Amino acid sequence: MTLTDASGGGRVSPARTVLVSGASIAGPAVAYWLKRYGYEVTIVEKAPAPRGGGYAIDIRGTALGVIERMGLLPWLQEVQVHVNRSTFVENDGDVVATLRPQAVTGSVAGRDLEIRRGDLTEALISTVRDDVEFIFNDFIVGMNETGHGVDVTFKSGTARTFDLVIAADGMHSHTRELVFGPEQPFHRYIGYCFAIYTMDNILDLKDEIVMWNDPGRAAAFYAAKNEVNAMLTWAQPETPFHAFGDLQAQRDLISEVYAGAGWVVPDMVAALQKADDVFFDAVAQIRMPRWTSGRLALVGDAAHAPSFLTGQGTSTALVSAYMLALSLARANGDHVAAFAAYERDTRGFVTANQDLVGTGRATLMPTTAEELRKRDDRLRSLSELPPTQGNPVHSSLVLPEPYTGR
Ligand SMILES: Cc1cc2nc3c(=O)[nH]c(=O)nc-3n(C[C@H](O)[C@H](O)[C@H](O)COP(=O)(O)OP(=O)(O)OC[C@H]3O[C@@H](n4cnc5c(N)ncnc54)[C@H](O)[C@@H]3O)c2cc1C
Repeated sequence: MTLTDASGGGRVSPARTVLVSGASIAGPAVAYWLKRYGYEVTIVEKAPAPRGGGYAIDIRGTALGVIERMGLLPWLQEVQVHVNRSTFVENDGDVVATLRPQAVTGSVAGRDLEIRRGDLTEALISTVRDDVEFIFNDFIVGMNETGHGVDVTFKSGTARTFDLVIAADGMHSHTRELVFGPEQPFHRYIGYCFAIYTMDNILDLKDEIVMWNDPGRAAAFYAAKNEVNAMLTWAQPETPFHAFGDLQAQRDLISEVYAGAGWVVPDMVAALQKADDVFFDAVAQIRMPRWTSGRLALVGDAAHAPSFLTGQGTSTALVSAYMLALSLARANGDHVAAFAAYERDTRGFVTANQDLVGTGRATLMPTTAEELRKRDDRLRSLSELPPTQGNPVHSSLVLPEPYTGR
C-alpha cells in the first residue's frame, strides 16, 4: 500500500507499524513525523498520563526548525517563559552578579525558546493525539525479534507484534536495556546529581533565577509563570543508583549533603521533604557506539543524553526524532538502510553537543573555593558582554527538508 502525504502531496513509504516507548519529548516528536510519512504508530508510556513538571528547557538552533515544521512555533512562542535576570548570591544573600540569563546559557534572546518541559510535552502530544494510539500505565517487558517484526510483551500481559520498536524512554531506558543490556557501560557520569521540585515563593521572585553556591553545592530558584521550581545540584563521587526510584532515599541523601548550608537552603531542603513532584537524576550522559540493533532504534536521551549542563537535551532529542523518521521515510521501509542513515547523518551533531558539557559545569558547579572565586570574577565580567549570537554547535546540522516522496 502507498499513501499520499497530505502535507507535501508526494508519495510516501508503505504503511508500517511502529511502537514508540515513552511520551515525553522524543516519543511524540518521532511519532508525529512517522505518522506524517504514513506509519501506524502506537506510543506506550509508563506513567498513567503525560508527565508534566520539570524546569524550563531550551529549544535552540537546528531544533527550532523541527518545531517550526511541526507548526508549533507560534504557540510555543506564546507560552514560552520570560526570565529576565539571573542573580548569583552568597551565604548571606549578598549579590555576586546579576546578568541576562542568555549570558550564561548561550541562548539567543528573541530567537531561542525557553518552555516549561510539561508545556512542550503537552504541545507535542497535541500534534498526534488523534492520530496515534496511546497506551498509558504500561511498558515493554519483553521483545522477541522474528524475520517479520518484533513480538512485544507488555507488563499488563498484552502481547502484540510491530514492525519496528523505538525507545524514547529517557536516560535510564528500560527498553534499551532489554536489547543492549544494563546502562552502566553507556552511562558517563559527570560527577553531580540534581533534584527539581516546585515550592512556595518564599523570596517573592518573579520571572528570574537566583542561585547560591558553595564549593560542590548549588541551590537555585527558577521563578516563571507564577510557579517556583527549586533546584539543588551537588557534587557526588559516584552515581547513587540506589536512590533512583526511591524518594525517601533521595530525601535522605539530600538532607545529608546540604547539612550546614547557608542562605535559604535549609528552607529548600525542608520543602523537599514534603514535595511530591521531585525529579531526581544524575548529571550524566549516555554515549553508545550504536543507536540501533535489529528492529530497535533509540532516540532522544535513551540514545544520547547530553546532560542538563549542556542545555541541549531537548534540542538533540527533537533533532534525532526528526532525522530517524526522515531516514525511515527515505528508505521506503528498509529499516536496515534507514537506521544506518540515521546514525550517519545525526551522530556528528549529537556528539558535538554532548562535548559542550565542560562549559556548563564551569559556570554552575565550581567544586573548590578557588574555582568559585574565579567563577564569580567571570560572572561579573559576563554581565558586561553584548548579547550572544549563540553557540554555532547548536545549529551545526542543516536540517534536511521533510520527505515528500520525490
Ligand atoms: C517529569 C520529567 C521532568 C524533567 N525535568 C527536567 C528538567 O527540569 N531539566 C532537564 O534538563 N531535563 C528534564 N527532564 C529530562 C528532559 O525532558 C530530557 O532530557 C529531554 O527533553 C529528552 O527527552 P526524552 O523524551 O528523550 O526523555 P525524557 O524526557 O526523559 O522522557 C522519557 C519518557 O519515557 C517514560 N518512560 C520511562 N520509562 C519507561 C518505560 N519503561 N516504558 C515507557 N515509558 C517510559 C517517562 O515517563 C517519560 O515520559 C525531565 C524529564 C521528565 C520525564
